[in-house]
Amino acid sequence: MSPCVAAYELQSGGDQCTIPIEVRIALNDLNRQLITYESVSEAQLGQLTDALRHRRVVALTGAGCSTESGIPDYRGPGTRRRARNPVQYREFVSDAMARKRYWARSVVGWPRLSQALPNAAHRALAVMEQSGIVRGLITQNVDRLHHAAGSNHIVELHGALAEVRCLTCGAIEPRDSVQKRLLALNPGWHEQRAELAPDGDAELPTESIERFRVAACQACAGILKPDVVFFGESVPREVVVDAWRLFDEGDALLVIGSSLAVFSGYRFVRRAAERNMFLAIVNIGPTRGDSLAHLRVSGRAGEVLSRLVERCLGPGCRIDFGDRSGNPVVPR
Ligand code: NAD
Repeated sequence: MSPCVAAYELQSGGDQCTIPIEVRIALNDLNRQLITYESVSEAQLGQLTDALRHRRVVALTGAGCSTESGIPDYRGPGTRRRARNPVQYREFVSDAMARKRYWARSVVGWPRLSQALPNAAHRALAVMEQSGIVRGLITQNVDRLHHAAGSNHIVELHGALAEVRCLTCGAIEPRDSVQKRLLALNPGWHEQRAELAPDGDAELPTESIERFRVAACQACAGILKPDVVFFGESVPREVVVDAWRLFDEGDALLVIGSSLAVFSGYRFVRRAAERNMFLAIVNIGPTRGDSLAHLRVSGRAGEVLSRLVERCLGPGCRIDFGDRSGNPVVPR
């Protein structure tokens, strides 16, 4: 068994796993580094470049765009079999224990999520927008990494974890401020070692969660909820309108790093197919939109997009897809 497969087998034990948490964290990190993929062929890149270069491209991005920044996805090769049970909207609003569980775990997960840096895929998309190839992004991600990379025209379909909303008065408070208040109520809580889960969540033992104290709205003492769309909740209407407006500006849809299992993203692929818009998908592994795509590129988003930028804009515009730091170079 290769070390990669061994690490994967061990880390996918889910909640039944008896391996100590420190070992699981180390194995997950190792696993992420070891899962490597065949480089995408020049022929495929050539097809993608030719198809997109003279079109008005709208990008639809998903969790796979951020895995190279260290944020796990839900349905990738390293996560597919992990036992996950994200909180449902109805449960969160009606059950105080569910809110306690959410915030207790989120306080541990937030520092790692908020410190994540944009990767080559985010940076390539920002360069493509600055150079006019990409009109804008519809993102399913909640990590704000497209903003951090310099993209401007972004519709966040599922909101952003960086903001927290009061369910009673609607006041918005930055997540960093809520984090400080939660830590004042629960000193040292964030120092627990835990495995980072998608959406800034973290795995914690149930018994420790019971003692956690939840913060309330500063304005009205109402219930606070991260300003993201939970499972079982609808995307706000004004966000859907903005997303369709952006979608209508394009004549090609480029999907990056999404399984398209969630309907709020998949509907754009369906509409693209109905309109016979050019549809390209860059993803590791299968997606729900594969049979509708004109072009399907299987590869790492960071690599594919940075090589696409280089082909579209020339070798002066090189984005290092092996490096998480530094800025893209745009020729003037
Ligand atoms: P998903 O987990 O269902 O699918 C991600 C896809 O990306 C998988 O098919 C995976 O194989 C692929 N992938 C992983 N790494 C990749 C890489 N480096 N290059 C190319 N492909 C890669 O994610 P989704 O379709 O976005 O749906 C999940 C939902 O969960 C979203 O609606 C989102 O709101 C939320 N979510 C967000 C984040 C985030 O903000 N970073 C992370 C996890 C989940």
